Amino acid sequence: MRDSTDPREPGFRESVDLMFNRAAALMDLSPGLEQKIRVCNATYIVRFGVRLRGHIHTFTGYRSNHSEHMEPVKGGIRYAPVVNQQEVEALAALMTFKCALVEVPFGGAKGGLCIDPREWEPYELEQITRRFTYELAKRDLINPSQNVPAPDMGTSEREMAWMADHYARMNTTDINARACVTGKPLNSGGIHGRVEATGRGVQYALREFFRHPEDVKKTGLSPGLDGKKVIVQGLGNVGYHAAKFLAEEDGCKIVGIIERDGAVHDEAGLDVVAVRDWIGRHGGIAGCPVGEFIEDGDALLEHECAILIPAALEGVINLSNAERVQAPLIIEAANGPITFGADEVLRQKGTVIIPDLYANAGGVTVSYFEWVKNLSHIRFGRLQRRAEEAHHLLLIEELERLSADRNLGWELSPDFKSRYLRGAGELELVRSGLDDTMRIAYQSMREVWLGRDDVHDLRTAAFIVAIERVAASYRAKGL
Ligand code: GLU
Repeated sequence: MRDSTDPREPGFRESVDLMFNRAAALMDLSPGLEQKIRVCNATYIVRFGVRLRGHIHTFTGYRSNHSEHMEPVKGGIRYAPVVNQQEVEALAALMTFKCALVEVPFGGAKGGLCIDPREWEPYELEQITRRFTYELAKRDLINPSQNVPAPDMGTSEREMAWMADHYARMNTTDINARACVTGKPLNSGGIHGRVEATGRGVQYALREFFRHPEDVKKTGLSPGLDGKKVIVQGLGNVGYHAAKFLAEEDGCKIVGIIERDGAVHDEAGLDVVAVRDWIGRHGGIAGCPVGEFIEDGDALLEHECAILIPAALEGVINLSNAERVQAPLIIEAANGPITFGADEVLRQKGTVIIPDLYANAGGVTVSYFEWVKNLSHIRFGRLQRRAEEAHHLLLIEELERLSADRNLGWELSPDFKSRYLRGAGELELVRSGLDDTMRIAYQSMREVWLGRDDVHDLRTAAFIVAIERVAASYRAKGL
């Protein structure tokens, strides 16, 4: 990451607060309520020891609950050496507003563990994770009805399975124990489509944006996603799925992929799967033979393209490079990739930014579906799928009978028939729910963006919609 050395650049938490303030200034909130919504309710720091490799190692973990206007509070747990209180608090705040924007009925939280997961063997990580889970669970910082973590940077399904199992061991009579975390593997109570969900949400967000010619016009881009040049920063779970789906299903050309140790570039379009394979096998992108390798990877952030997708860390577009970023459309697949200062610069330039609150909400949306599934103890679609198929079959058979009886010569194409006959399973239902969520949230944001003279960008619009919903929830509680 190209760190900004500019002294005017605020820290991450301050940056989120400034974005909040910009929106709140345009709203009619009492100062007391505004302050209540802005502040982080509580941040817990746990330090615990684990005996590994003959020594006791002390680890520091965080769980920050930003807002409990709805419970459980929700948000991922990241494993990274740089995790700190400011960062988890900023991320927890973003979770509050993200959930409100996409109407996921949770408060906002975030957690982190200061650790470089690459330095530990899987069985050691399991011991550390189980101990961290114990420390959180005994303080109700993991709990199906109060606080539900999920994967984030440096964690995945594997860690969530360990956490769920450990929580269940500590709460042997809790029938809902599995709902204590989301993003679990399918065999541990997960849901179809959760791994790809954040990337899928980025794709649905872009599709929805491109459904509105008036909005696309503001970027100066031609209509339609087909053929658009895209640069992605970060080929982790989010960046990989977003890039893959946009290339395979929407005709986008992924012309650049940036990783921490370099980038690859090809104006004709890169094979995303091949690049991911290389990274998986070599631990980095350096030397990747797909496209042209560029050592100074971050330079590609400034390269000409239609859509830039920062999908890695916070603060990667900052005062040191914002002026030179050429993409007319940026979609924030990561949390907080554009600093407050950079946001100002880009807005002045007319860059359209689809903000993180909205753009990466696919993960928590499908987490919500998983939590509901866990509490209802049944796979989505299990009851109705075959009934739906039977109904469709009735119609097809009736059409075919009519055609035969009256010599109409109608013939349904086999492709139509097989597609129409298939009842929706869990994956189809999850995608449908995610698509619907992303469309509706965009429209609520857009209404404020285009409908108010004093709102000139989607981020401010997103904050206004979200803050208004949190405020309504506090008011309903009598605050
Ligand atoms: N860590 C993801 C996020 O930042 C997912 C959170 C969740 O599913 O609870 O949105």
